[in-house]
Amino acid sequence: MRVNEIFYSLQGEGSLAGAPSVFIRLAGCPLRCRWCDTKYAWIETAGQNLSVAEIVQAVEKWPCRFVVITGGEPMLKSELPALVSQLKAHRKHITIETAGIAYVTDMACDLMSISPKLSNSTPDVPRLAAIHEDARLDIAVLRKLIADYSYQLKFVVDSQDDLPEIQRTIEEIGNVDLEKVMLMPQATTRDELLAKSPLVADMCKSTSYAFCQRLQVLLWDNQRGT
Ligand code: SF4
Repeated sequence: MRVNEIFYSLQGEGSLAGAPSVFIRLAGCPLRCRWCDTKYAWIETAGQNLSVAEIVQAVEKWPCRFVVITGGEPMLKSELPALVSQLKAHRKHITIETAGIAYVTDMACDLMSISPKLSNSTPDVPRLAAIHEDARLDIAVLRKLIADYSYQLKFVVDSQDDLPEIQRTIEEIGNVDLEKVMLMPQATTRDELLAKSPLVADMCKSTSYAFCQRLQVLLWDNQRGT
């Protein structure tokens, strides 16, 4: 598998925020979101080739049960089920972080952390914007992911104007457990996070969705490897 980086940190986002976790970042994502904070992992070749056994060996260096498979977009990797299976054989708790654009069946994933992309993520470059718009939201895939896996739905919020689109997306997916919906400030720096958090907190209070922290931004200002 093409692995961009493996590192040990705290889970920064979602219901497991604060849990010491090993992150496996796989290379490659077609979406090219405007505010993506891991652009260095976009291209398929952005990393080194490791076997599943080598990845598991690297993960085992740290005394940690929680493993996060992230990207890039991990659900597009054909070797993902084998990696999940081997990590589970080592009794790991597995979170997969995905934009929800591809479905993979029957993995022993403990938490599918899905972040559907809204129109606020569309790139400025017209050629990339067209690819992004075509791929960013697949309602059928989202329906299958929430039906088949334990999940959380994290929406990245750039402004108050995003709320109607979030509500429409949730309604279109259908059968969403609203207690699993989280709103997360769009922020790639600590200053941006602190500036946008009060707005998102108010949106959470008015909707009953949960506020999603970004500890990697708050604590380390989004340095690589955190
Ligand atoms: S889906 Fe995630 S990894 Fe891919 S471009 Fe968007 S923010 Fe970056």
